[in-house]
Amino acid sequence: TKWVYNFGNGAAEGAADMRNLLGGKGANLAEMSSLGLPVPPGFTITTEVCTWYYDNGKSYPDTLAAQVGAAMEQVGVATNRLFGDAERPLLVSVRSGARVSMPGMMDTVLNLGLNDQTVEAIAREAGDRRFAYDSYRRFIQMYSDVVLGLDHHEFEEIIEEYKERNELTLDTDIDADAWLGIIEKFKALVEEELEKPFPQDPQEQLWGAIGAVFSSWMVPRAVTYRRLHDLPASWGTAVNVQAMVFGNMGESSATGVAFTRNPSTGEKALYGEFLVNAQGEDVVAGIRTPQDITEKARIEAGSSSPSLEALMPEAFAEFQSYCDRLEAHYKDMQDLEFTIEKGKLWMLQTRAGKRTAKAALKIAVDMVAEGVLSEEEAIFRVEPAALDQLLHPTIDPKAERDVVTTGLPASPGAASGAIVFSSDEAEKAKAEGRKVILVRVETSPEDIHGMHAAEGILTSRGGMTSHAAVVARGMGKPCVAGAGMLRIDYRNGVINAAGRQLKGGDTITIDGATGQVLMGEVEMLQPTLSGDFGTLMGWADRGRRMRVRTNAETPQDAKVAREFGAEGIGLCRTEHMFFEGERIIAVREMILAETEEGRRAALAKLLPMQRQDFTDIFEIMHGLPVTIRLLDPPLHEFLPKSDEELGEVAKAMGADPELLRDRALALEEFNPMLGHRGCRLLVSYPEIAEMQARAIFEAAVEAAKVTGAPVVPEIMVPLVGLKGELDLVRERIDAMAEAVKSETGTELNYQIGTMVELPRAALKAAEIAQTAEFFSFGTNDLTQTTFGISRDDAASFLGTYQSRGILEQDPFVSLDQEGVGELIQIGVERGRSTRPDIKLGICGEHGGDPASITFCESVGLDYVSCSPFRVPIARLAAAQAAL
Ligand code: PEP
Ligand code: MG
Repeated sequence: TKWVYNFGNGAAEGAADMRNLLGGKGANLAEMSSLGLPVPPGFTITTEVCTWYYDNGKSYPDTLAAQVGAAMEQVGVATNRLFGDAERPLLVSVRSGARVSMPGMMDTVLNLGLNDQTVEAIAREAGDRRFAYDSYRRFIQMYSDVVLGLDHHEFEEIIEEYKERNELTLDTDIDADAWLGIIEKFKALVEEELEKPFPQDPQEQLWGAIGAVFSSWMVPRAVTYRRLHDLPASWGTAVNVQAMVFGNMGESSATGVAFTRNPSTGEKALYGEFLVNAQGEDVVAGIRTPQDITEKARIEAGSSSPSLEALMPEAFAEFQSYCDRLEAHYKDMQDLEFTIEKGKLWMLQTRAGKRTAKAALKIAVDMVAEGVLSEEEAIFRVEPAALDQLLHPTIDPKAERDVVTTGLPASPGAASGAIVFSSDEAEKAKAEGRKVILVRVETSPEDIHGMHAAEGILTSRGGMTSHAAVVARGMGKPCVAGAGMLRIDYRNGVINAAGRQLKGGDTITIDGATGQVLMGEVEMLQPTLSGDFGTLMGWADRGRRMRVRTNAETPQDAKVAREFGAEGIGLCRTEHMFFEGERIIAVREMILAETEEGRRAALAKLLPMQRQDFTDIFEIMHGLPVTIRLLDPPLHEFLPKSDEELGEVAKAMGADPELLRDRALALEEFNPMLGHRGCRLLVSYPEIAEMQARAIFEAAVEAAKVTGAPVVPEIMVPLVGLKGELDLVRERIDAMAEAVKSETGTELNYQIGTMVELPRAALKAAEIAQTAEFFSFGTNDLTQTTFGISRDDAASFLGTYQSRGILEQDPFVSLDQEGVGELIQIGVERGRSTRPDIKLGICGEHGGDPASITFCESVGLDYVSCSPFRVPIARLAAAQAAL
């Protein structure tokens, strides 16, 4: 088997389409090399080696060592160097590189191959001892940290102590001989901690680093990241080994990162940051504040540090030409890393750039206008789930702003919350339902869980490409980065902000669009959907087959959903209409009534309210289909709990509170989710269905008069498992329709259907479809009942299932296509067998999940229905699924 792929010198064994085998970074390095761009020569060890490694007790295939050896030799030939040589030593970087970029894994070891001997050769060659020793000490630090597992800070302490003793402030004040002394201390530290010396043998160093990359695939934070992003562990990571080039060889050297278009706004303009005389990691680490690449960006930022364009015009021009070429080649915005070594430009990475949803939309729409992409291709350039970001609130321009300080606008949207200083605190607060802003000097992959839990992220250090900025953009969280005026004191839990003091727990607002940090909670505006959004949605609508409806029961939700493009209501949960105010008392009266008479009295109170609700909704939906589900309350949600609640109901019913308490106790169920709910309640008390049917029909007549658009209500019966259940309820509804017809003298058009949310309903779909004119798959309950996992209790243990790899995803979030999906497929087929034109939809939470929507397309559902804010996501996902 071929485990190793070479690249460099205008050629490569790999290519961009080999991402699964070579990882994203390796595949693109190969591609750039083949395109003739200056890429330092190197090779990629495939992801298959990673898989092999874990399948075989963390060992390597037999032939790997020989292949790596040969590849190292080839890199040596290309660079005219030799690994470990005392005269012209080859130094390499070792980097991880999975199919998709994954913060949380081991990233990089630089300068590998340095030891007590080779460092002298480097010093001679560079004519710069200080540079050589500085590189060596960085290598020891990095290698000890990521490969040997020693704490980075212990090394920093040695440096700090030296500076203090000699009254120096900057690392750059330390001279060559002093670095040499520090290196000895570093080595002694390693030996003391590990009881063996720092490895001097370059081969040992190389294999140590390769092993560390593969091991990092399974470190907890990488596992967490994969879980959060639904990435399978089976993918594995590749390892990239590449000849070193140095951005820290003096003032004609530099290193930087760039995007071919602005990743925040999508504007077509080269956008990036660099540092003179620095190594790659310095830019992302956010320790020094980077400079702008172009003059335009520098001027816009009002910065006085010169741009790359001004400082190194030739290297800049060359770089710009590669940016254009790579963007045209990949037909997508690129995120690039480069290094300039003594004036010579080297390309270290290219990949599709991460971007905000706003930028993704603009870039996709612009690229169609530029003739680069077709409309259909553009539809695939925006990740449906990312649209969520556009639907985030922004600060009301009219609101008063008490600006504490301003940082970089690193990720759009605005958020308010209480200050917390650690990710664990953020997570804890979230679990307690508190909203927080995570405030850190800078973030690292260890903070992913806290960033997830927080409403927004604020850092005092780092640029637009710092960890905080990149990760927040990916998550769609507001982020203000690099707010340098803030002095964050973790120990005392305070922030000094230009003379003002903030404490943990204080409420602030961050504005990711302007970079402002504001005191207190500030008024927000709900988003308006921009022109690009409409354009892309228009293309998506033309591309999709399935309809998109919404789950809504309030006029407000119905309105929002229509603005987002909902084409009807797929689920109106009538029990949700009963939670408000006075109504709940009437509902309790109905539930607690001991006689049909008592129930009818309570229902009579509810009828006018229901009728008004339905009239409003029919009017808003203006002729679009509306599916109304008859009452489906798990009883425990409605039963009065406190004495006060019991008293209220007793008063309304004119009943004895004590007798009522007995009745409530008698109604209490061991397992309400599997109890007397859904159609079971309607079978026991058909008068409920009658009241609701009357309200629906009368509202339909009323609304049609107002809007002039005919209303064809779809009445849906919940939790059906037996055809007989539906037959009984259907009979009552049909009878009510006749009654309303004769009372009003109006023709009524309506459909009666059922939810499929029990395995038995799916299995007996052929029989049930004889009565049901439509099915709506209620995948919340169908998942609950197929797995036998309570949807209310699942959260406490499903996380463990995911981290142990038993389940890849939470089946209540993304449809279990194999199991629950098979039941859906059975339901579809059998339902159509007796009623070929049966209308089919889905209304569980999965109706707004892109992967589940793809599944719905594949089984041929007619529509998906989801919560209002998910409607745009569903429209786009449905188009991607259909095309
Ligand atoms: C379902 O079970 O999928 C459903 C939509 O109904 P509910 O969530 O109201 O039980
Ligand atoms: Mg249900």
